[in-house]
Amino acid sequence: MRDTWRNNFSEWYNEIIEKAEILDVRYPVKGLYVWFPYGFSIRSHVLHVIRRLLNEKNHQEALFPLLIPEDEFAKEAKHIRGFEDEVYWVTHGGLQELNVKLALRPTSETAIYPMFAVWIRSHRDMPLKIYQVVNTFRYETKHTRPLLRLREITTFKEAHTAHSSWEDAEAQVAEAIEIYKKFFDTLGVPYTVSRRPEWDKFPGAEYTMAFDTIFPDGRALQIATVHNLGQNFSKTFEITFENLEGEQEHAYQTCYGISDRVIAALLVTHGDDSGLCLMPEVAPIQVVIVPIWFKGKQEEINREVKKLQEDLSPLRVSIDDRELRPGSKFYDWEIKGVPLRLELGPRDLADNVVTAVRRDTGEKLRLKRDDVKKEVEGILEKITQDLRARAWRVFEEKIKEAATVEEASAILRKEGGIVRIKWCGSEDCATDIEETTGVSILGILSEDVEGKCAQCGRPTKTLIQLGRTY
Ligand SMILES: [Zn+2]
Repeated sequence: MRDTWRNNFSEWYNEIIEKAEILDVRYPVKGLYVWFPYGFSIRSHVLHVIRRLLNEKNHQEALFPLLIPEDEFAKEAKHIRGFEDEVYWVTHGGLQELNVKLALRPTSETAIYPMFAVWIRSHRDMPLKIYQVVNTFRYETKHTRPLLRLREITTFKEAHTAHSSWEDAEAQVAEAIEIYKKFFDTLGVPYTVSRRPEWDKFPGAEYTMAFDTIFPDGRALQIATVHNLGQNFSKTFEITFENLEGEQEHAYQTCYGISDRVIAALLVTHGDDSGLCLMPEVAPIQVVIVPIWFKGKQEEINREVKKLQEDLSPLRVSIDDRELRPGSKFYDWEIKGVPLRLELGPRDLADNVVTAVRRDTGEKLRLKRDDVKKEVEGILEKITQDLRARAWRVFEEKIKEAATVEEASAILRKEGGIVRIKWCGSEDCATDIEETTGVSILGILSEDVEGKCAQCGRPTKTLIQLGRTY
């Protein structure tokens, strides 16, 4: 790796995407990328985690069509205004012009909710909690980047729920936030959760809760959102149910999603100057064994390496028996972020041990051959805890509090990250704060503090977060 994680992040990122075989960026359409098998395997493990968490909370996985007819898509006025600049349209079937244009989903509310209207009849049909993992399309006009800004979002996990009361929908928002917290804790990706300002909420939502993390270049990255849709979409799509009093009422809805950005956050958070460092739970290869061959001992070592792999089952263990110097093999696996490397040579055999090297710390250990499985499992668990703790430490160092807008500006200019200040709630102050600092208001963190608006000095209870975003 030529570039450093901390000081030349952009270069580091481009290089790691290619060298660790995450995505091939050479596909001939702007903003569309190809998943390499190694990257795809990381993606599969990450999706396994979120599927497990959603299923545990009684969500059901479904699959809706990619194409949405224009008349359905245009029904919700705010929603369509929020997306109209970004929609790809299918206008022809073969040579024939279509009577009704079809949108490639930029998100699936307008594909799913007409079906909710058919499925939901009574309060007994709810809560209805479904999700799907699909690709979505958005015509990005800004500079596109792998996993971060895409025209085809390939890993869009969207959940959609319907409830028979506002309170149930509110409880669902809380549950979704808990699910995402567990998800990001599993990945070791630190986050802050805030309510997006009115002007930045999801088009058609009552309000939006968002998860942000911070990249090494000091910019904030949105990694998940949770929306309370109230009855906005249910009124548009006539999703009604018979309530306990026997009256027709519109359903209360929520939706929440994550995308490829989660994988970017995973790769970046634990990366370093030598490459990736993957969380063991989502690593395609958790342990790589490198045989240290020696003249006359090659066959014996190969036999022992094979036995070692079998003893470590069902961990994901790979043997690197390529005809290369061990040093080149070490280098490759460091870039790819395999959490633990084991080496087995004549000396290890003689001493009945296995040499182990942690990817995250470089620490070298000698493990007793007879206890190897237990020892390896313990080290992988330790790596998980240490990576998570280190990530949170780095993250928390990048969050500062400021009393004045000038102070906030100075911090943001010098080191980036997220700065917390108090705000009175007026849009005028918000505009002034954003203009002076040159960054966005990410969201409202708390409405339970004491103090004065950093812009106008009026008393307020609201604490907001500022940061430069992706
Ligand atoms: Zn103010």
